[in-house]
Amino acid sequence: AKAAGGGCIKLYDPELEADLRYRQALERDLRLAIENSELDLDFQPIVDIATRETVGYEALARWTHPIHGEVAPGIFIPIAEETGLIVGLGALILELACAAAITWRRQQIVSVNLSPAQLRRHDLVEQVVTVLARTGLVPTRLELEVTEGLLMDDSEQVRNTLQTIRLLGIHVALDDFGTGYAGLGYLCQFPFDKLKIDQSFTRKMETDTGSYAVVKAVVALGQSLGLQVIAEGVETEAQAAMLLAIGCLQGQGYLFGRPVSAFEVPS
Ligand code: C2E
Ligand code: CA
Ligand code: CA
Ligand code: CA
Repeated sequence: AKAAGGGCIKLYDPELEADLRYRQALERDLRLAIENSELDLDFQPIVDIATRETVGYEALARWTHPIHGEVAPGIFIPIAEETGLIVGLGALILELACAAAITWRRQQIVSVNLSPAQLRRHDLVEQVVTVLARTGLVPTRLELEVTEGLLMDDSEQVRNTLQTIRLLGIHVALDDFGTGYAGLGYLCQFPFDKLKIDQSFTRKMETDTGSYAVVKAVVALGQSLGLQVIAEGVETEAQAAMLLAIGCLQGQGYLFGRPVSAFEVPS
């Protein structure tokens, strides 16, 4: 746009216009995709770093658009959040994740990402309970991942929802730990079982002493609070060895396995 001040507003920007149209089209198509259950999940192993045993799988949403091909969750999840579509999408994801997990003979945990908008809803607990009943998955095999941003609300309702979820035996993990602005006080105020260290720290821990210090401190913090700690984005054996050396027992990342379709999850 032209410099401000002169009241010279650029009325037509073909690029912006195309962007907006593309977004509106995506929104419309996403709505249809949800209605027609065209979305899919991939599953990425979470492993015991020492034994390499798979202890769980994180469900990651996938959308293959008939024309545009794969649309990254980093694109369509925010659209779903801004338009309210996340509620229906979240329900579909939860259903698909539990239905897949019930077929795993080794009965690992399935970890599902929750958007803040889902957690703020009063009927979330009811929705989760219904899906568990319908699929037959025991609550202790389900884990819900929430992000720090949500805790900033500091709402009684979110706290109660998380509390109820945990009382049901469902695990709660704090995702992307270290990237948000939530104070450490939140760790005591909200009931978590696990901390997931964001991959930006794992990736740099070999070369950047600051990142290494953060990972080490988070592992110590987790240990003293009695929380399991999972390092995300583990790509090298050197990272795995460093993590074990500082007492981080679980990891997730390309070193252990990329996200795969439900059919490729070993039974
Ligand atoms: P996230 O929850 O932090 O998920 C981990 C992301 O890191 C995934 O990207 C995964 O494919 C990627 N990743 C895993 N290991 C490695 C590694 O070793 N190296 C690198 N470079 N990347 C790795 P993905 O599938 O593109 O998902 C991106 C984000 O989209 C997720 O981040 C999550 O915030 C969101 N998302 C995905 N599925 C869902 C969902 O079902 N519901 C909600 N609300 N959000 C979702
Ligand atoms: Ca996650
Ligand atoms: Ca994460
Ligand atoms: Ca992330």
